[in-house]
Amino acid sequence: MTSSLIITIDGPAGVGKSTVARMLAKKLGGIFLDTGATYRAVTVAAMQQGTDLQDLQAILDVMDRTTFDFRHEGDVLKVFVDGEDETQTIRQQHITENVKYVAGKQPLRSRLVELQKKFASQFDKVVTEGRDQGTVVFPKAQFKFFLTADSKERTRRRHEELKAAGTEMDFDTLHEQMSQRDYYDESRTVSPLKPAPDAIHIDTTDLDAEGVVNRMLEVINKRHG
Ligand code: C5P
Repeated sequence: MTSSLIITIDGPAGVGKSTVARMLAKKLGGIFLDTGATYRAVTVAAMQQGTDLQDLQAILDVMDRTTFDFRHEGDVLKVFVDGEDETQTIRQQHITENVKYVAGKQPLRSRLVELQKKFASQFDKVVTEGRDQGTVVFPKAQFKFFLTADSKERTRRRHEELKAAGTEMDFDTLHEQMSQRDYYDESRTVSPLKPAPDAIHIDTTDLDAEGVVNRMLEVINKRHG
């Protein structure tokens, strides 16, 4: 199947992409795809197998011998690595800190982009979020959004999210880590975080998730009727 509607949402860490993608997909009767989960899943597999994260060939080998499975269960995108449910593991801090080794290597990205496209093609309406969805993966998407928010506000949101999941983190340390991750995502040579030329920018600093979704729906309804 080919999707009839693809909506991309890109932006930095903690800007609310996943929440908004999930809500928008629900409103439109479609599915959401959290592409960060694909980079995280490969990082989990490589680390579990004791792989040197600097070694491209070793990570390609990990991808060859590992089964990755992404499944929607209700509102959650479940992530399985060799049949094991790693949905929680992929969010752990040491994984977050090491995703950059996978995200920064073009051959690994190419494979994951294929996986993301294949996954999306199973569904009619797809809301996909990440860093390169509007620029590289779905350059022909009907709607492209680029979310921004003040960096302290993004840290506050992530801090709350972690707390709700049982992880207490020092605010300044988290802020520093998120700033470094954004810097890395924006400045890498392969598929850097940047808006597509035709992306619609939404500053979410003073909006809650519902407010962002409503803005998006206004844009979609205006053009799609
Ligand atoms: O979105 P999330 O924070 O889960 O993504 C984790 C990391 O995966 C990002 O910091 C980025 O380095 C990488 N990523 C990417 N391209 C995407 C999605 C995520 O490079 N489309």
